[in-house]
Amino acid sequence: MPDVIVIGDGPGGLSAALFLAKNQQDVVVFGDDKSAMHYACLRNYLGIAEINGADFQRIARAQVSAMGARLREERVREVAGGGEHFTVTLESGEQVTAKYLILSEGKAPKLATQLGLAFDEASGIAADRNARTSVDRVYVVGRSARPGRSQAIISAGDGAAAAIDILSREQGKDVLDWDQPPKE
Ligand SMILES: Cc1cc2nc3c(=O)[nH]c(=O)nc-3n(C[C@H](O)[C@H](O)[C@H](O)COP(=O)(O)OP(=O)(O)OC[C@H]3O[C@@H](n4cnc5c(N)ncnc54)[C@H](O)[C@@H]3O)c2cc1C
Repeated sequence: MPDVIVIGDGPGGLSAALFLAKNQQDVVVFGDDKSAMHYACLRNYLGIAEINGADFQRIARAQVSAMGARLREERVREVAGGGEHFTVTLESGEQVTAKYLILSEGKAPKLATQLGLAFDEASGIAADRNARTSVDRVYVVGRSARPGRSQAIISAGDGAAAAIDILSREQGKDVLDWDQPPKE
């Protein structure tokens, strides 16, 4: 059983998975590589002068896999649960259970509504600065939370904030994922 299930493999979901896997969480990402990024050419992602969105996705997916997250190219049909666990049902019928759920479904979030989270076309799904929703241990990140203001770097930041929040909850203290270059 993974610790965290991420649904959606755009910058929001992949960023969350990167931070979680880097910090020894067992994380699985479900998605069909249909991110809106495949239509984008980024010139506003800090630190990268210009990159084709499809190239960004290819590099990000490889980075997240190398860090230890499992990327599964499958769609999720249903989510259910609360309390101790959430269960997702794939289109194949397989079920997977985890303690935390991060939803990064993009522009048309259907699964979030199955958990009772309301989606408003103008303001998205309500979530706090750490991407927590009104359902405990369910996070909503990226375009689903801010449909009219969706930017790749914001989705990635939302995903990172959700991951750091989960790590902090699990460790019972604030977590900083900071690295330094090797000493010469
Ligand atoms: C034409 C165009 C140009 C753009 N240009 C820029 C730009 O220059 N700069 C910029 O910052 N942004 C740009 N964007 C916006 C950018 O693509 C989005 O901000 C970004 O993709 C949002 O990331 P996300 O992770 O929130 O959602 P998405 O990237 O949309 O990812 C959501 C993913 O979840 C998957 N998914 C949904 N439901 C399920 C399910 N049930 N099971 C499994 N997977 C599921 C989807 O298939 C998709 O892969 C552009 C977008 C478009 C369309």
